Amino acid sequence: MEHVETVIIGGGQAGLSVGYYLQQQGHHFVILDAHARIGDAWRKRWDSLRLFTPARYSSLAGMPFPASGHTFPTKDEMADYLEAYATRFKLPVKLGVRVDKLSKQGAASSWRRATCASRPRMWSWRCQAGNARGCLPLPRNLIRASSSYILVPI
Ligand SMILES: Cc1cc2nc3c(=O)[nH]c(=O)nc-3n(C[C@H](O)[C@H](O)[C@H](O)COP(=O)(O)OP(=O)(O)OC[C@H]3O[C@@H](n4cnc5c(N)ncnc54)[C@H](O)[C@@H]3O)c2cc1C
Repeated sequence: MEHVETVIIGGGQAGLSVGYYLQQQGHHFVILDAHARIGDAWRKRWDSLRLFTPARYSSLAGMPFPASGHTFPTKDEMADYLEAYATRFKLPVKLGVRVDKLSKQGAASSWRRATCASRPRMWSWRCQAGNARGCLPLPRNLIRASSSYILVPI
């Protein structure tokens, strides 16, 4: 496990957008997502699903949706767009990492202890700042962008 300044949980629209802006400002971060592919939260929905927002209102910052602005993208087009977005901006997404538990103690500027339990455990830590040998410095920020639609509530 590497030390990062910011951990974003969830690589959907919200997590990728936060990642885009953090990257623009040169921050060191990682995005954790439980699914095997970016966009799977959309891919796994029912076949006939289309967005109710037209393509011209469905873009994330920095990359227009690749469809005519007045059309309503399918759920797979949305999924593929999100995946292409992460690829284009080389966003550091770790897939297949499901966060089960998240907690912290102390002020945001100086946490005394943080827990981020994930499966697989490579992104788990449970440590107190400045103690325990081999314990990485705590990330400054944990950003929850995991929505409330699916998977485990953290
Ligand atoms: C059926 C349906 C249709 C919709 N149609 C539209 C539309 O047409 N236009 C529109 O603007 N909005 C639409 N929405 C709303 C839109 O999907 C949400 O506003 C948007 O997806 C929220 O983005 P998000 O990144 O917060 O969450 P999500 O897109 O849900 O992404 C959350 C991500 O977090 C990951 N995650 C969740 N839990 C964990 C965990 N414990 N550990 C690790 N990773 C985790 C998931 O794998 C997922 O990739 C629709 C929603 C639904 C359900």
